[in-house]
Amino acid sequence: MSHYSIKHIEEYYQVYRKSVRDPELFWGEIAEEHFLWRKKWDRVLSYDFSKPEFKWFEGAQLNITENCLDRHLTTRANKTALLFEPNNPEEKAQHITYKELYERVCKLANVLKQKGVKKGDRVCIYLPMIPELTVSVLACARIGAIHSVVFAGFSSKALATRINDCDCEMVITSDGSYRGHKTIDLKAIVDEALEQCSGVKNVLVVKRINSEVSMTPNRDFWIEPLLKEASANCPAEIMDAEDPLFVLYTSGSTGTPKGMVHTCGGYMVYSAYTFKNVFRYEENDVYWCTADIGWITGHSYIIYGPLANGATSLMFEGVPSYPDFGRFWEIVEKHRVNQFYTAPTAIRALAKENLKFIESHDLSSLKVLGTVGEPINEEAWHWYNVNVGKKRSPVADSWFQTETGGIMISPIPYVTATKPTYATLPLPGVQLALMDENGDEIKGNQVDGRLCIKYPWPGIARTIYGNHKRYKDTYFSAFKGMYFTGDGALRDETGYYRITGRVDDVVIVSGHNMGTAPIEDAINEHPAVAESAIVGFPHDIKGNALYGFITLKETGEGRDHNNLRSEINQLITEYIGPIAKLDKIQFTKGLPKTRSGKIMRRILRKIASKDSENLGDISTLLNPEVVQDIIDTSL
Ligand code: ATP
Ligand code: MG
Repeated sequence: MSHYSIKHIEEYYQVYRKSVRDPELFWGEIAEEHFLWRKKWDRVLSYDFSKPEFKWFEGAQLNITENCLDRHLTTRANKTALLFEPNNPEEKAQHITYKELYERVCKLANVLKQKGVKKGDRVCIYLPMIPELTVSVLACARIGAIHSVVFAGFSSKALATRINDCDCEMVITSDGSYRGHKTIDLKAIVDEALEQCSGVKNVLVVKRINSEVSMTPNRDFWIEPLLKEASANCPAEIMDAEDPLFVLYTSGSTGTPKGMVHTCGGYMVYSAYTFKNVFRYEENDVYWCTADIGWITGHSYIIYGPLANGATSLMFEGVPSYPDFGRFWEIVEKHRVNQFYTAPTAIRALAKENLKFIESHDLSSLKVLGTVGEPINEEAWHWYNVNVGKKRSPVADSWFQTETGGIMISPIPYVTATKPTYATLPLPGVQLALMDENGDEIKGNQVDGRLCIKYPWPGIARTIYGNHKRYKDTYFSAFKGMYFTGDGALRDETGYYRITGRVDDVVIVSGHNMGTAPIEDAINEHPAVAESAIVGFPHDIKGNALYGFITLKETGEGRDHNNLRSEINQLITEYIGPIAKLDKIQFTKGLPKTRSGKIMRRILRKIASKDSENLGDISTLLNPEVVQDIIDTSL
């Protein structure tokens, strides 16, 4: 029996039971067998939910980059660590070996040191999806500096807020970035942000698009010449297991983003362990996660998890629609990708397009498909399973959060039988609870409630940077002795979990709790519908009624809206019941989305309640322009 790589379902249950019976033994064995420690821990775990405080592998010392790089040099020096696929398909892909990556990380680490960055200092990384982004993350970790990666699609205002929130003293950026047909002047955005950030002493600039940029003397430096002079040898800073490794902001779907702090030891063990189990990575596989490194998915499943397992991790600079909607599949074919991990928003966007974009490519290398970020609706799940996976590659619908550090609920491909829209079972070491409004645990199956986690796991974020009170209030106050996820879930008759959306998205209609995800699911079954979002709005009689914002597929665009409305409500009646019928249905050109592709329901909720004066900050939206249009055509 191996915990590290579970091979069949009985083994899963066995390992799971062991992880609950004796969590310290379970995680201690994993940590001991699969990682390189400079000093062993005194204690696997100590915790207190009321403070809250969690310490994993206390007393241990390590450097995560020795686990991701140095230890592979004896056996995998010439194996590709990073496979870089540029935005432009004409530009050559880069195969960066473990040895090369090691040297590039050491060189940049030496440059950081030379610029005065020390252990514990915060470095903001605002880079496109190019190899230097991974190198920068690891260079910080090498010297014990805390990285804070900010997604390079954010505005200067959003960037400035994040730089100031964690007092970064350095920013690493590039002249600009390529995104499909467009180029973006990143350096200009940084310059504007830095007008509000007096704490930043230095800016290192990578050349990517060869654009003209302004360089502030003594503050801004091109990275290239500094790297040329730097030594390729940089001893790793020895870190305590509980020293911070990075700060990462949540995507802000529900309010102001929170700077989650992850630490060196627990995060390493958790991201690596979950990577190995969920993706079933084997030595010569090519693994590809399409997320941006600006999100937790990118941190854990492009950089740390794969590299700690000596994997080949593909990094894609571009977008799924450039030069056409076949780009993802072209890349899968070109690099013989074995594991492919993406988000529902991408799946839905690609499912709108002609199947010829898929059919013209050989996808036979694929073994495992993954999805993360939002509940995946049934239609999208099937589309993914049939057209991409050819019903051969299991779909791992994996649930996790910035706060959890790594995947918590997911089928283990080839082990756990999948079920559309279900994230299925908790990974070993993850103890879930569903709670009711009175704070009692709901036992048994065929129930739904608020999703909580009742025992610590190594990847749990330890605090919100600079605001431990908010950490406590947000996650540990609703239910005593538990971590509250903010999401709702149901458990079916076999014990499988389905995430029904955020608890905020549960609307009480005539006294009935209505999760919005299952209703959206029913709507999305309609052949003319591309995407939908349901929110509640105040109603005299029902308390709340349901309002649907729906975008149509191209094929549905000429259709009579009133006919569509009644067909949609018929579908809802059929799938869920008449109680879930929508009072209002508005057809829109688009839905407001976060930069990570999630529908921002809080904005729609305000519009539905005729409160569109107070939308709050919408500058971090992917498509702020749709908001006015939705307001103008609201019902
Ligand atoms: P904020 O916390 O600032 O509002 P956010 O929750 O969108 O932002 P993330 O940490 O990136 O930021 O996202 C985690 C959330 O994404 C989960 O709480 C859940 O709502 C949703 N999610 C992630 N994966 C899945 C999944 N497989 N199924 C359903 N929902 C998912
Ligand atoms: Mg969240």
